Amino acid sequence: MSGQQTIHVGGKWQAAASGATREIIDPADAKPFAVVAEGGAADVDAAVAAARAAFDSGEWPRTPVAERAALLRRVGELLQRDREEIALLESRDAGKTLEEGRVDVDCVSDAFRYFADLVVGEGAGRVVDAGSPDIHSVVVYEPVGVCALIAPWNYPLLQASWKIAPALAAGNTFVLKPSEITPLTTVALVELLVEAGLPAGVANLVTGAGDPVGARMSEHPDVDLVSFTGGLASGTKVMQAAAVTVKKVALELGGKNPNVVFADACATEEGFDTAVDQALNAAFIHSGQVCSAGSRLIVEESVRERFVAELARRAAKIRLGRGTADGVECGPLVSAQQLAKTEMYVASALEEGAVLRAGGSRPEPSDVRPEGGYFYAPTVLDQCHREMRVVREEVFGPVLTVETFRTEDEAVALANDTEYGLAGGVWTADAGRARRVAGRLRHGTVWINDFHPYLPQAEWGGFGKSGVGRELGPSGLAEYREAKHIYQNLDPRPVRWFAG
Ligand code: NAD
Repeated sequence: MSGQQTIHVGGKWQAAASGATREIIDPADAKPFAVVAEGGAADVDAAVAAARAAFDSGEWPRTPVAERAALLRRVGELLQRDREEIALLESRDAGKTLEEGRVDVDCVSDAFRYFADLVVGEGAGRVVDAGSPDIHSVVVYEPVGVCALIAPWNYPLLQASWKIAPALAAGNTFVLKPSEITPLTTVALVELLVEAGLPAGVANLVTGAGDPVGARMSEHPDVDLVSFTGGLASGTKVMQAAAVTVKKVALELGGKNPNVVFADACATEEGFDTAVDQALNAAFIHSGQVCSAGSRLIVEESVRERFVAELARRAAKIRLGRGTADGVECGPLVSAQQLAKTEMYVASALEEGAVLRAGGSRPEPSDVRPEGGYFYAPTVLDQCHREMRVVREEVFGPVLTVETFRTEDEAVALANDTEYGLAGGVWTADAGRARRVAGRLRHGTVWINDFHPYLPQAEWGGFGKSGVGRELGPSGLAEYREAKHIYQNLDPRPVRWFAG
């Protein structure tokens, strides 16, 4: 790949058919630092044709599972070889700290390894007991076909990989679209897939905007499955477009995630410190631009003042700056649009009666915060309630709202009072209560006395408007497979259902 040739079709790197390009902006200083091809519908059509031809040739779908798994492991190793370079690229493109970029690369390597192991372990199918020695009944797993994979900007490499690794493990071919504002590590990843020896046409990449690129992928008649991670509005459009040709659809959408803190979790100094510390992490890591961000603190009334005071004190000390600068703990927001959205939500919350305890403004430029960078101070809004927009809608910025409860029932009701259902945390020293509350939360992941960890071997996805389907875990592989039942009668005879 060179220069603006960031579109990969049928094994070749190329520019957009139209010749259009897009500048990629560094969110820490709002200056362009790279240029990529701005693809369009014609590029999607070419990429889908290449993926279709590669699938129909049967080479990759029929590659033995052990060989497919070996290739995935190799990708995991190549990512580790290029760890620093890729982490740096992700840091500049998405605005995250270098250390977050490194963690992302490690998680991606883990995902490639996990799906390699899983697909080998699960084998090609299973034998079914049909109740007779004369019947041989098996269910075999086959790839779905051509997959359209659409990724967001907050975890560009990670979200794309949670799709790519299982899609390839299962034997599919794909067309991939990164977010138009953060395509660079995805381009690097496709280069590694090529280096690892993936046959031409299996992995195709089109850089460009949601509409037309993602829209064309979602409606394309030769695409069999769409897997989308992004916002609710775009996800709804993807589902509508995919419905016309009845594609399989997987959606990983937003969240408005509760972090429920019971007073008993704060009974000791250590417990209090841990719960506050993790509430900070839950809300402010990657400046809150995390689908599972714990952006709603729901804290028991009796400890609210002490908890919020300490939280606000520590939030005000978070070191904001360019993700690559030493000692920086939080980077900028990804774009001017995201910054404006955050400011709008904070203003609306204050109008609706929220009390500002920390942040609430753009910080002054400094030696680590260039003029013009999209920085916003970690913000704590106290005295919030369920009718406020900031409590109901996903901000996707460093904004934490505080609500309170008096009883366990009230805590559960508040935590479930969202149209989303992605993830939530529960903090308590009472093991029985922990399990009881976890069981009642309508969210795809519940963390007890923790926040944010996920495991490649455990399903990830949402209830309600947080999505359809699951990534990771055995279900994350199943999304990319068709199960075919083959029933063989070894002793066929007439059934005489019809007497004549
Ligand atoms: P977005 O919806 O704006 O964009 C996501 C992707 O969809 C991008 O590649 C975009 O170009 C593309 N797109 C936009 N319009 C499209 C259309 N009409 N058809 C097809 N594709 C289209 O989301 P974003 O702003 O990039 O990402 C932030 C959102 O993603 C947040 O809501 C966040 O919660 C969500 N997210 C969810 C998860 C999860 O695992 N559930 C993970 C990360 C991010």
